[in-house]
Amino acid sequence: MNKAVFLDRDGVINDTIIINNKSYPPNSLHELVIFKEVYPALELLKKAGFILIIVTNQPDVGRKTQDLNVVEAIHSYIRDLLPLDDIYACYDEYSSDYKPKPGMLIRAASKYQIDLSQSYMVGDRWRDVGAGKAAKCCTIFIERNYSEQLREIPDHTCFNLLEAASFILSQRNP
Ligand SMILES: [Mg+2]
Repeated sequence: MNKAVFLDRDGVINDTIIINNKSYPPNSLHELVIFKEVYPALELLKKAGFILIIVTNQPDVGRKTQDLNVVEAIHSYIRDLLPLDDIYACYDEYSSDYKPKPGMLIRAASKYQIDLSQSYMVGDRWRDVGAGKAAKCCTIFIERNYSEQLREIPDHTCFNLLEAASFILSQRNP
């Protein structure tokens, strides 16, 4: 069985647009800013043998306030740039894939033979912690000081993906 690190996208991989302490996804490829610590963090995790999968809610596509082509262009760019194995996106807020529901993690586990109990979910919102817990992963919360309360206590809290990667690597079997 494989081990995975599931990664939320906005606020973990790329910066978000902050309005009144709430975070919003970039509206275009031009607005996309990948955090500088992301590449070294993913390289470390990849070298350690983890499968790396983005799992992202993009409900604006379902609400028709964001163009699917824009989201797909962003994902194509991210996949070319970073050592990722896959990107799962959920556009429908009523779907069983929509975090905090664990559908994307469970489907990925089946496709890539992932042991979820040996895997991690990294995200910056309560929905990420919820999805990780529902899938029985270890949950890592990236604190970005949004005006949003967590609904469950994550297993670990840190401030960026490199810190999260260091924590994950410190947890591996000797
Ligand atoms: Mg996020």
